[in-house]
Amino acid sequence: MPDTSEVCPKCGSPLGDIQQTPSGRKLQRCSTGSWNPETKKTEGCSFVKWLPIEPLPLDEKCPKCGSPLILQVTRFGKKMKKCSTSSWDREKRQATGCVYIEWINGTTESLDEDCPECGSKLVLFTTNSGKKMKKCSTSGWDRETRQATGCKYVYWFKPGEFMASTGEENLPPEPAI
Ligand SMILES: [Zn+2]
Ligand SMILES: [Zn+2]
Ligand SMILES: [Zn+2]
Repeated sequence: MPDTSEVCPKCGSPLGDIQQTPSGRKLQRCSTGSWNPETKKTEGCSFVKWLPIEPLPLDEKCPKCGSPLILQVTRFGKKMKKCSTSSWDREKRQATGCVYIEWINGTTESLDEDCPECGSKLVLFTTNSGKKMKKCSTSGWDRETRQATGCKYVYWFKPGEFMASTGEENLPPEPAI
């Protein structure tokens, strides 16, 4: 639940509504500040509070112990699947429970666009560092032969070319706690 009694530590104004970035992170701006998409600058107070991201339960089982997996996003926007039985013991400063973790390298979204080479659908791939590319949905990676499989069509977007951007990359960085 948002704590509406909270005030901005910079200027003392109340904080605004909770907003969500395209990558699923949540933030609250100072109510006197706002993002101007035309100038790509924050107007008014620049205070942004990043909210902790709730882990998302997945319909997948841990390969180690069979418990459900959860999807967790780190404060740097990296995604991982981990076992729901794992937790962090703050007193002993060590992990407890099952230690299964699987890092997810970027995200894939389906696009309504056909591959110029084979006519299959394209997918949009976003790397962990936020780079975007279009590639053919038939492409894959054979771990055993260490070779690319399927169609080889790839198109990297130049910075700023992909218009779905809302300026998230221009927000102040999350504090490294
Ligand atoms: Zn403020
Ligand atoms: Zn497990
Ligand atoms: Zn293709």
